[in-house]
Amino acid sequence: MSKKVLVLGEAREGALRNVSFEAIAAAKKISGGGEVVSVLVGDEVGSYTQELINYGADRVLTVEHPHLKTYTSDGYGQAFMAVVEQENPEAIVFGHTAIGKDLAPKIASKLQSGLVSDVTDIEGEGDDAVFVRPIYSGKAFEKVKIKEGITFVTVRPNNIAPLAKEERSGDVSAVTADIKNLRTIIKEVVRKSSEGVDLSEAKVVIAGGRGVKSEEGFQPLQELADLLGGAVGASRGACDADYCDYSLQIGQTGKVVTPDLYIAAGISGAIQHLAGMSNSKVIVAINKDPEANIFKVADYGIVGDLFEVIPMLTEEFKKVM
Ligand SMILES: Cc1cc2nc3c(=O)[nH]c(=O)nc-3n(C[C@H](O)[C@H](O)[C@H](O)COP(=O)(O)OP(=O)(O)OC[C@H]3O[C@@H](n4cnc5c(N)ncnc54)[C@H](O)[C@@H]3O)c2cc1C
Repeated sequence: MSKKVLVLGEAREGALRNVSFEAIAAAKKISGGGEVVSVLVGDEVGSYTQELINYGADRVLTVEHPHLKTYTSDGYGQAFMAVVEQENPEAIVFGHTAIGKDLAPKIASKLQSGLVSDVTDIEGEGDDAVFVRPIYSGKAFEKVKIKEGITFVTVRPNNIAPLAKEERSGDVSAVTADIKNLRTIIKEVVRKSSEGVDLSEAKVVIAGGRGVKSEEGFQPLQELADLLGGAVGASRGACDADYCDYSLQIGQTGKVVTPDLYIAAGISGAIQHLAGMSNSKVIVAINKDPEANIFKVADYGIVGDLFEVIPMLTEEFKKVM
């Protein structure tokens, strides 16, 4: 049976997040030839609609309200439920982002539906779709088939390739939602810093551990990340030592990343760190200790001092870029 699939689109700092397009690609597979409907929630989201269509959405629905400018689970929950009531979807796809992780269980419980979270691959299509997701901190994968009810999944950023962007056409319409009795209204968002590339969606991550030894020790990593258009991440060891902000932490209790290239510098490779990065496509480890655990998951290992190796890598990359 072909399905109508609702997909939540996410925008941040004036641009749609890549995961919105990846979720559309996932929805296409789940729909089995049915309809993919992107949903945008916010206060002024009209400028994003055509891009969602160009990435494969058949239709876009917007829910706009001044109280939806910033995410709250109450506000977005009411907005998304208004769309669900209007559309009666057979499937729903969210990104496995901070918003998706918070909102999906709330919507699933309202719909009395199951939820398959953190999906990294989809085998098959339509009713035959099988969802692949990591378990035991990424040490194994399970495959899940949904046999009844709404097919509700969240997809991990950077894992499902978006469809090619093409000039496409599709309907855009507004859904009116009665946003009321909000327990939280966000008055102002103060960002810690104006980060460049979003860590959880970066194609290249240069991560530093306690081996960087200081805040300044992250500078060579930042230079390499800037050169490669990537983002800097960190182990909890580096965050606990106050060398960097906790927003950079990767691992079981930090962010989960799946870049094309992950360079771990001065990171020992504790199991809790591996939980956040071991599914990266290519892993390069730089560590003084040849016995460091990180080498067990690395595709390429460099035994050496990161303060010598990273600048050397930067110089070599400069020659070819
Ligand atoms: C419940 C729980 C949750 C946790 N969650 C996380 C998490 O989400 N993420 C996370 O990262 N950790 C997490 N941890 C902590 C984790 O167990 C480790 O303590 C932490 O990852 C260690 O950080 P590190 O590798 O930077 O430091 P260390 O283990 O101290 O390793 C530093 C490494 O740097 C190398 N080194 C030193 N100097 C240099 C140099 N100049 N050049 C090259 N190499 C050098 C050393 O050989 C060593 O291997 C968690 C722990 C618990 C108990």
